[in-house]
Amino acid sequence: MNNEVVFIGLGNMGLPMALNLVRSGLTVSGHDLLPASVEKFTTGGGTTTTNLQSALAEAKIIITMLPASRHVESAYLGDTGILAKANPQALLIDCSTIAPETARKVAAAAREKGFDMLDAPVSGGTGGATAGTLTFMVGGSQQAFAIAKPILEKMGKAIFHAGESGAGQTVKVCNNMLLGILMIGTSEAIRLGMANGMDPKVLSEVMAKSSGRNWVLEVYNPCPGVMENAPASKEYSGGFGVDLMLKDLGLAMENSLSTGSSTPLGSLARNLYDIHSKTGAGGLDFSSIFNMLAKSN
Ligand code: NAD
Repeated sequence: MNNEVVFIGLGNMGLPMALNLVRSGLTVSGHDLLPASVEKFTTGGGTTTTNLQSALAEAKIIITMLPASRHVESAYLGDTGILAKANPQALLIDCSTIAPETARKVAAAAREKGFDMLDAPVSGGTGGATAGTLTFMVGGSQQAFAIAKPILEKMGKAIFHAGESGAGQTVKVCNNMLLGILMIGTSEAIRLGMANGMDPKVLSEVMAKSSGRNWVLEVYNPCPGVMENAPASKEYSGGFGVDLMLKDLGLAMENSLSTGSSTPLGSLARNLYDIHSKTGAGGLDFSSIFNMLAKSN
């Protein structure tokens, strides 16, 4: 086999992840619908081919990092999809954030054709993708996880086996729903303190050492100027977009409905990010929800 790894989806996350695999010494064939992304990959030392189907037939590991459920279904299923073209000896790893139901459906179709497939969504953002410090939450068989782990370790530093197919996506959905809620709650608390004349830096420092402590206060403060490296201090650029958070909260709400769960704060958070996105903030970092909570005069 010429290509050890075929990597499909060289966007904000996929490109740095695939380049970390190249740097680790693996032969990686990179593919994306956008020629400019493929060019960035080959400039960084990766290889590519116009004949994706032959690359798929030769690959030992196939990794996808695509935007949403529908892209994953179309990449894997159908006459020209990965399941039709790859060698069933290949291990399939989908790192996209998608609905747990879709992950289970695609993994079941893969199993029918003799493939082992893992859902392996990530946390850690573009910074973690570049630094190779992502957290992977993986669903699928223990045996497939054992084969995938050393590959995932080249892109991340915390690799968890969450359970059977779809379990990785379930953890991701729960985590991001909590993060969306925490961002809004933290923003509210800082705004309340500021309305009382508090310095947001002092307030944040104290809360970060008190019982309101959380990841947003520790590393991702939503108030401009409190943390030099947080997106809030860079006009909410970079980081994790409002529309991606909205997508993940949508997945959480779909899942909540289908499982009969009670998620009132998740639902409220989805609605607030939706309103925020509709004001034109969809491309800003999700911590920009802080702007929506400004004090009325
Ligand atoms: P992105 O839009 O930057 O990249 C997706 C890439 O997939 C694009 O380059 C697109 O051209 C390509 N693509 C789409 N369909 C394709 C197909 N059929 N064949 C080949 N290429 C195809 O998105 P991203 O920010 O890299 O995110 C990817 C996934 O990771 C999403 O599910 C997202 O929710 C998740 N995620 C993103 C972040 C983040 O901070 N950006 C963090 C964690 C998880």
